[in-house]
Amino acid sequence: MEIRKVKQSRINQVDFNNIQFGSLFSDHMFAMEYIDGEWQNHRIEPFGMIEVNPVSASLHYGQAIFEGMKAYRGIDGEIRIFRPEMNHRRLSASCERMCMPLVDEDTFINSIKELIRLDHQWVPPGEKQALYIRPIMFADEPQLDVRPADRYRYLVILSPVSGYFGGDFPAVSLKAEEKYTRAIQGGTGFAKAGGNYAATFLASKEGRENGYAQILWLDGVEHKYIEEVGQMNICFYLNNKLVTPELRGTILPGVTRDSVLRLVSDMGIKCEQRLVDIDEIIEGVRLNTLHEAFGCGTAAVITSVGSIGYRGTLHEINNGQSGQLSRDLYSSIVGIQRGEVKDSYGWTQVIPV
Ligand SMILES: *Cc1c(COP(=O)(O)O)cnc(C)c1O
Repeated sequence: MEIRKVKQSRINQVDFNNIQFGSLFSDHMFAMEYIDGEWQNHRIEPFGMIEVNPVSASLHYGQAIFEGMKAYRGIDGEIRIFRPEMNHRRLSASCERMCMPLVDEDTFINSIKELIRLDHQWVPPGEKQALYIRPIMFADEPQLDVRPADRYRYLVILSPVSGYFGGDFPAVSLKAEEKYTRAIQGGTGFAKAGGNYAATFLASKEGRENGYAQILWLDGVEHKYIEEVGQMNICFYLNNKLVTPELRGTILPGVTRDSVLRLVSDMGIKCEQRLVDIDEIIEGVRLNTLHEAFGCGTAAVITSVGSIGYRGTLHEINNGQSGQLSRDLYSSIVGIQRGEVKDSYGWTQVIPV
């Protein structure tokens, strides 16, 4: 792989105590192009502007996908990534759904490792901080036909980030969304496809205007079954069981979700993946059998849900506070990621620097 380094690193200008989510990027990026049926020109080069043909199908028809993961600075100073093979598997599912070429697992993981090895100083040291890793792929064929392109670009960029919501484990308010839909069976909900996110902006905007931090997505047919929360998977601690919506094509299969299910069942708590009716959850609030609710995803790990607004009524969960299970899961996952807790699942990989 060709490596073209920056003349002068920007790392000395960075104040890790003051970082805005997703606005700061490391010195380098990984790039390659898919031309004539294969990925070529694998390289690391200075992070910067790229030229894109205005005709590219990604700009017109949204043939674009991404991934999201993080590198963590451990208490021992080592840098770890978390279950990258899961992100690779999901990228492959996104590629297939969007008619895009696969990237093999070695290229996916090694490009990330090489890039982080070079930009290792950009992995921030704070307990709630990490280096966010964003692989993207998009169509880049100069041709306007409405069909899958035959040229693509793949990039990996790195962004140091701090805790997503700030504060000390806040519990957020959700709006159960009855007007808009995120995904529908047969659609692209299970893929990390760019267009899925653009389609949620209006709902989030209206939600925020009404004082809600995030949208609680309901199924697209009846607006009855709970699917996800914002860009996170959702879990309920209901009747001493962990209940989460089953993956049925409309839900993004989160790496954090999968890790939570594993940890929770190893705690001896029964887990159910099934349809979750919003009425069952509201009833759980009323009967006090809903102990906790939380979202899970790479960005914030675990986000407690303090209340759900549904049909004009605000239903408070656990007195609007984060619960013990949410906190324990947060500590376990972050502990494994930062090398504080023994990684008995083999989830982490140390990046040699
Ligand atoms: C990325 C994402 C998640 C969380 O997945 P993780 O792998 O845990 O980060 C959940 N829902 C949506 C819609 C997402 O885009």
